[in-house]
Amino acid sequence: MDPIKLVKSIPSGTKIEGLRESLIKIFYDHEIQMSLSAGVAKIFATDLSNLSKRLRTNQKRGVSFDASETICSVCKEPISIDCKCPREPFLII
Ligand SMILES: [Zn+2]
Repeated sequence: MDPIKLVKSIPSGTKIEGLRESLIKIFYDHEIQMSLSAGVAKIFATDLSNLSKRLRTNQKRGVSFDASETICSVCKEPISIDCKCPREPFLII
């Protein structure tokens, strides 16, 4: 609810009991809600940054594996024994 639209919809000269107090409460609640939203946005931005750094660090890490039990993705033979594919660096995803 937009409090400004609400106030504009009230005919001029109309007297409403407790209107002032209600409007103060509405504006106060709205201010709290905006403050909370801003705080949550900052937390999400920090989380996103930290998780992105962690993802990049983990992606750059080497992966340990047993070559005798690892199958070549090109020729489907064990890498350490029967694979005759060129020995170029490869990426395990
Ligand atoms: Zn191979």
